[in-house]
Amino acid sequence: MPSSDKKILVVGGAGYIGAHMVRQLARASCDVVILDNLSTGNRKLVQGEAFIQGNLGNSDLLDKLFSRHTFDAVMHFAAFSQVGESMHQPLAYYRNNLAETVALLDAMVRHDVKRFIFSSTAAVYGEPVAIPITEDHPCAPTNPYGNTKLAVERMLADCDAAYGLKFTALRYFNAAGADESAEIGEMHDPETHLIPIVLSAADGRIDHIRVFGTDYPTTDGTCVRDYVHVNDLAQAHLLALDALLEGGDSAVYNLGSSHGYSVRDVISKAEGVTGKRIPVVEAPRRPGDPAVLVASSEKIRRELGWAPAYDNLEKIIRTAWNWHLKQK
Ligand code: UDP
Repeated sequence: MPSSDKKILVVGGAGYIGAHMVRQLARASCDVVILDNLSTGNRKLVQGEAFIQGNLGNSDLLDKLFSRHTFDAVMHFAAFSQVGESMHQPLAYYRNNLAETVALLDAMVRHDVKRFIFSSTAAVYGEPVAIPITEDHPCAPTNPYGNTKLAVERMLADCDAAYGLKFTALRYFNAAGADESAEIGEMHDPETHLIPIVLSAADGRIDHIRVFGTDYPTTDGTCVRDYVHVNDLAQAHLLALDALLEGGDSAVYNLGSSHGYSVRDVISKAEGVTGKRIPVVEAPRRPGDPAVLVASSEKIRRELGWAPAYDNLEKIIRTAWNWHLKQK
């Protein structure tokens, strides 16, 4: 594997997805340095690796870091990622997700680091006009979060043209699950994501799950999403890294399972996995939620040979449940 023994800067490596990436890089014998300001990340998710607490927009810190280490690539997971919050605090999103990334790319260019893997999102597409969503689907984000991610993708294409900086932008659908070790997993405060909330309702930490919208044009009236295991996401980053190290060109890929599950499907599968009844309260729609988001991940399967190991939702929920039970 060309990535072994490579030195990788993981920005946001103390977050949910970043921490799983760090594990996989370590398993692939890469040398990892983590930069994270712990604003949403958690030090508990990092074990043993070189860790620097700081902002990715701090040019002095970046200059020191890039002078001390010769990185083969940078992976960038550090971003605010809540759609609703982005509607109320757009400038915080533009500052954190866009302006700070300008500073990071600037430092990379100054120090001649030319490979970048970026955590993008299905939110770049906005309200889908066709399902499953392919990478050439129109990009028309419906919230500031999606706007900031699309702006970075466009900035990356400009940096490739101007400086030869090669990038892979990975558009995640719904990241879920936890490492089989159950040592790392999803840990947001406050938690807004469906699966951890459903599991909290299963073990009584919360009274019930509120189902946001039961009148969508879907089979059971609730929103349909494409859940992909966090370690499958990390695996896709490794494949993207190998492709860039082999001289591959810049690319954009969707990362999803290509299967859609409604909110009610998720709840009933979680009842099966946990053996608990999950109390449900029907609630109004959550602003900004499209009815259906399902990826076509054909492109990355075909071009990079990505083959997700977690091919059904029960398996994904089981790993999340194992992690959840350890958080008491
Ligand atoms: N959802 C819900 N109740 C909750 C949290 C989420 O009904 O307490 C729904 C949400 O409206 C969406 C789906 O679950 O249709 C997935 O939401 P999540 O926030 O996990 O991910 P998103 O699709 O927004 O990235």
